[in-house]
Amino acid sequence: MAVDSPLSSQLGPPACERDAKALHFIEETTSHADSVQDRVLTEILTRNSQTEYLTRFKLNGATDRETFKSKLPIITYEDLQPEIHRIANGDRSAILSAHPISEFLTSSGTSAGERKLMPTIKEELDRRRLLYSLLMPVMNLYVPGLERGKGLYFLFVKSETRTPGGLLARPVLTSYYKSDHFKTRPYDPYNVYTSPNEAILCPDSFQSMYAQMLCGLLQRQQVLRVGAVFASGLLRAIRFLQLNWPQLTQDIEIGALNPKLTDPSLREYMDKILKPNPELAECVRHECSKDNWEGIIARIWQNTKYLDVIVTGAMAQYIPTLDYYSGGLPLACTMYASSECYFGLNLNPMCKPSQVSYTIMPNMAYFEFLPHEPDSFGFPRDSPPKVVDLVDVEVGKEYELVITTYAGLYRYRVGDILRVTGFHNSAPQFHFVRRKNVLLSIDSDKTDEAELQKAVENASRLLREFNTSVVEYTSYADTRTIPGHYVIYWELLGKDSANSPTDEVLKQCCLAMEESLNSVYRQGRVADNSIGPLEIRVVKNGTFEELMDYAISRGASINQYKVPRCVNFTPIMELLDSRVVSSHFSPASPLWTPERRR
Ligand code: AMP
Repeated sequence: MAVDSPLSSQLGPPACERDAKALHFIEETTSHADSVQDRVLTEILTRNSQTEYLTRFKLNGATDRETFKSKLPIITYEDLQPEIHRIANGDRSAILSAHPISEFLTSSGTSAGERKLMPTIKEELDRRRLLYSLLMPVMNLYVPGLERGKGLYFLFVKSETRTPGGLLARPVLTSYYKSDHFKTRPYDPYNVYTSPNEAILCPDSFQSMYAQMLCGLLQRQQVLRVGAVFASGLLRAIRFLQLNWPQLTQDIEIGALNPKLTDPSLREYMDKILKPNPELAECVRHECSKDNWEGIIARIWQNTKYLDVIVTGAMAQYIPTLDYYSGGLPLACTMYASSECYFGLNLNPMCKPSQVSYTIMPNMAYFEFLPHEPDSFGFPRDSPPKVVDLVDVEVGKEYELVITTYAGLYRYRVGDILRVTGFHNSAPQFHFVRRKNVLLSIDSDKTDEAELQKAVENASRLLREFNTSVVEYTSYADTRTIPGHYVIYWELLGKDSANSPTDEVLKQCCLAMEESLNSVYRQGRVADNSIGPLEIRVVKNGTFEELMDYAISRGASINQYKVPRCVNFTPIMELLDSRVVSSHFSPASPLWTPERRR
């Protein structure tokens, strides 16, 4: 029932008093975006004025934007490497932040093949919680009655390590789920999960997924929304159900937990809720045993109103598959966040995926925007583009996000390209265009052109003894299978037809490529099973020339034509696939351990 409160917002009538406060906060903060940004920058610079970093740039206690912008450079992660290394190695002095660095958050963006280490401080957890607390009040404006049921969310923790200096290093969501902010969150009828903490926090990904799926099936009538952080995660859960429904339904039928689940706290919890339920088991079995899994989510969880998963950016590739399994349920993208900082939320979460815009919340950090005007000829610009403030971005233009955070990142380039779609009050709203320099991505892995090139080089060494070389290559993220996998098209030049590389050798080339890819890719292959074995498709000689002819026939200039290192345009892929002479898959998993290689 909507509350008629004095805090009622222009967003719509809130569902309850608590929602009214959250919506009021959104209205206030977005209405005064510029002054909030001023306050945020002043707070960050005041508290950190004595840090080594700010002292180095001779800020001398200044907290105004002009001085800040004139004295501090815009930087990337590579520029901060020395400071990050010192902190990782145990230097506890105030290098970046006056507040102690509590841990490192390991980003899915990599540097030299390893996850980037993002310093964070304790109070950032409050900021993350604040952003989370705004999501349901907004959703309740669009989907009434969510307090009458539960959310089936597949949420996981990942492995963590310690740096040489003893700081924890783990992904931001692992940090959040293990925090008291999450574990001891107060009961909120609008945000009840079917998954217990015991399942979410179980470090074994099979046991965790199994228990979360089982809980979701047991409470299937109560489930009103189904979700995961990213689309790839939800599809992994569907795949898991495909592989494990016989055992899951048996557990439900006899009321006893699969003995493969050995985690003591998980077993204790599941033993309490699992009772023989042959009727439910039969119902799930009936749906899962059909050959056709179209609409399976809506068939099993019949009361589902929407799927809560991010399908913007690299995840857009999963929309058709999600539509298939959900029978076309609405897809809600609720927030935009990263290890560096949580940025903002979607104020119209039930809109179509292509229409999603995120409103950056001005209280989360100090935001700047570097105009992103790709120069089609690749010539350097005469002068660097002028960086603009949050409220000064222009509708229709693209920018790269630059942040200054409470945790001690100053004018840091996140690497995301955003396009302004409009404003909510004075806060701009952004369409997520893409992450810079990402060629291939299946899950949270991000492989750039240089990494792919290196992987091809390393793998092609195995061809030398066959007098064969890779003359051209391109790639494609094949997400038609679950999990998806990288496909690399190779055109080979062999000088000795009596001694061409065998299937076994080309399989080893696949593995060598995987060994060369970054740790997030390898973790996806080994620990998360979110990425399938890499495939090399050898194409006929002359195929890449045909590719060029095709591009030129469509208007590309011969002088400027470069082989695309990644393809996703259907006619091009059809051309490539029609020229495939053999296909080879990686025969084993690449090496991956939670420990960093450097
Ligand atoms: P990580 O540092 O591993 O936490 O990854 C953060 C990155 O994921 C962001 O910088 C974006 O590139 C991407 N990302 C996060 N949220 C979204 C979203 N809602 N839509 C598209 N991409 C996103």
